[in-house]
Amino acid sequence: MEEFDVIIVGASFAGLAVASKLQGNTLIIDRKEIGTNVTSACGTIVKFLESIGCESSILQTFGTAALHTENKEHHLPLADEFCTIDYWKFCNEYFKQSNAEFRKENVIGMKNGLIKTDKSIYKAKFYADCSGWSAVLANSIVKDFVDKDKLSIAIETEIPYEDNLLRFFIDDKIVENGAGWLFPAGANSRFGVGSYGKNPKINKCLKDFVESYGLKVGSVHGNCIPYGLREPVIDNIFLAGDSVGNVLPLTAEGIRPAIRAGTFCGDIINKVLKSQIKLSEGVQKYMQFSFKNKKYYDYLARLQRRMLNPSNSRINFMFKLLSINPVASFALRKYESI
Ligand SMILES: Cc1cc2nc3c(=O)[nH]c(=O)nc-3n(C[C@H](O)[C@H](O)[C@H](O)COP(=O)(O)OP(=O)(O)OC[C@H]3O[C@@H](n4cnc5c(N)ncnc54)[C@H](O)[C@@H]3O)c2cc1C
Repeated sequence: MEEFDVIIVGASFAGLAVASKLQGNTLIIDRKEIGTNVTSACGTIVKFLESIGCESSILQTFGTAALHTENKEHHLPLADEFCTIDYWKFCNEYFKQSNAEFRKENVIGMKNGLIKTDKSIYKAKFYADCSGWSAVLANSIVKDFVDKDKLSIAIETEIPYEDNLLRFFIDDKIVENGAGWLFPAGANSRFGVGSYGKNPKINKCLKDFVESYGLKVGSVHGNCIPYGLREPVIDNIFLAGDSVGNVLPLTAEGIRPAIRAGTFCGDIINKVLKSQIKLSEGVQKYMQFSFKNKKYYDYLARLQRRMLNPSNSRINFMFKLLSINPVASFALRKYESI
């Protein structure tokens, strides 16, 4: 049986961030080739991407977002420039920052401290579960680790269409109890719909939304989005990204939180491996990091609940407030600091 210092499951935002901080003998496993399993509109903040040296993946940048309701369009000045990125390019650039070995395998779960995949069994001193909402390692050893009642769902399609604003739609006619979005990315745009709960009609919502632009849905991808922070360490398994619920409730922004958590987590594991800190100290630091913004996560989750059947006039009022420059700037800076 092969042994590694660290095995990371999931080669997306969180997993690649963990890998970027590790110097030991590291294996990163994903069931898909790196950068081929896009599930996201891939919108994030330009200066954040620059801070991790992945700005070459930017496709388009934005200084304003349009907020659409049933009958109005409000313009939100963005405190920091936003962008859409090429997922494949991002992942492959980020992977170059690590010295991890990549293997394409499907991880089945953990038993007796070992990882079982469809091809092999592995052992490591530490594991990082960065497998997204399904938390494949944690969920195989802790019963009901994934709370199915705390999952939103979002799908999207990328098709040829050009625009110059990021667009969000809170409009029951597009999707009930959720939001629609249109994220331009160069010659294409990503049209998506998400629902803060189960929504059996979500595919039809996306089709109708795209057709309202006189366009046709292309291939569709999507994922569940967890809300609520989960336990960040179980035995010698560290969790980062959607697997631990880092994605922000309400906005479903998960890229920055996944990378921030993955970076912190990788740094801690590296220090423990190099005996710079004890494991108990590393675990404590990572727990503190994971829960330090819990009150804001809880606040956003409360706002998310209020978005179930909101009145159009209340949404218009909120968006109108957000169109005022100092209000937008204050609210966005506060939000970005979470
Ligand atoms: C439609 C949609 C649009 C979104 N748009 C945005 C956006 O514009 N901006 C933003 O910030 N956030 C967005 N999000 C949220 C964001 O995509 C996630 O929060 C983010 O991808 C989480 O990163 P992660 O690395 O934790 O998990 P993921 O990106 O989900 O990666 C998990 C990885 O683990 C691998 N994996 C899973 N199970 C196994 C297994 N059993 N064996 C091997 N490998 C496995 C997967 O193949 C995948 O590569 C969006 C989400 C959705 C669904």
